[in-house]
Amino acid sequence: MARTINFNAGPAALPLGALERAQKELLDLGGTGMSVMEHSHRGKAYEAVHNEAIALTKELLAVPDNYDILLLQGGASQQFAVIPMNLLPQGKSADYILTGAWSQKAYKEAKTLGTARVASSTEKDKKFTRIPAQNELDLDANAAYVHITSNNTIFGTQWDTFPNVGNVPLIADMSSDIAWRPIDVSKFGLIYAGAQKNLGPSGLAVVIVRKDLVEAGRKDIPVIFQYRTHSENNSLYNTPPTFSVYVLRNVLAELKQNGGLSAIEKVNREKAKLLYDAIEARSDVFSAPVEKASRSTMNVVFTLSTPELETEFLAEAKKRGMEGLKGHRSVGGMRASIYNAVSREWVAALADLISGFKK
Ligand SMILES: *Cc1c(COP(=O)(O)O)cnc(C)c1O
Repeated sequence: MARTINFNAGPAALPLGALERAQKELLDLGGTGMSVMEHSHRGKAYEAVHNEAIALTKELLAVPDNYDILLLQGGASQQFAVIPMNLLPQGKSADYILTGAWSQKAYKEAKTLGTARVASSTEKDKKFTRIPAQNELDLDANAAYVHITSNNTIFGTQWDTFPNVGNVPLIADMSSDIAWRPIDVSKFGLIYAGAQKNLGPSGLAVVIVRKDLVEAGRKDIPVIFQYRTHSENNSLYNTPPTFSVYVLRNVLAELKQNGGLSAIEKVNREKAKLLYDAIEARSDVFSAPVEKASRSTMNVVFTLSTPELETEFLAEAKKRGMEGLKGHRSVGGMRASIYNAVSREWVAALADLISGFKK
């Protein structure tokens, strides 16, 4: 079977080994004679998978003991609302740094629930083609939290050094770059990610949250949306999306087998360099709108000099077995999403196409 060279932004490519393991175990999970989807979420077989997914997250991301790892339904967008529901009390305000469409959506949800302010935005001057510098942040020292989007999936920008926010908890939407490299989790109050870019299937959100924030969270919201409910029940308060958690486990197990986050960071940096170098070398046709220091290692956004050339480029890519290169409908152009599961070989094939295009 020929695998398509998949540059989709999300849902996105998954590691072949994780999929093959799912295929092999689909009808019979560990000799139980049942698929993981047919097991009770209260039974031993599923519980082992569930706990392994959490343990692997803790190990690979080096999550300190004073953090909970929650596996929740509703993807990242639901967290846009659940975060202020829990962590934005009346009388307090939350700071949002706007670097793209996802942070705008998160900010909008916070405003419907309480007081939120924009601590910085790179929309007006530069159309979200860069990450703001520390001295551009207008931070409220009494804010309930500061929210950032670590990687802007649509605009192709990424925080390299995270902002200094003093003693205010830093919250990061890491949906499109979680686990791309090692990070210091202790710098964050909460990290969340929809699984479908770097971790697994859609519909599942991984939330890493400091226990004191969970405990201090609001109690005047529905029980199902309280982080404490899921913390107290090891994310088994209600039926979790068991198959998605199972695939998450497979993805993380494979990541560990391949050397963990330091190893994948090296590959990810090589891939991004390969692609940006190829684009720069063909400045007669191609250009990358994002400022160099803000370039994403996960979503490489680029344009061609005319719409006709873009159409031709996409057709040529398709001929070579590549998919998912069309940019987000709101920005146009091209976007190659090169998450952990996208191999160096796939990226090299795209770089080749760029280098030789119309030559
Ligand atoms: C994809 C994405 C989301 C939305 O995730 P859903 O699971 O569809 O809600 C949010 N934030 C970022 C940064 C994303 O890339």
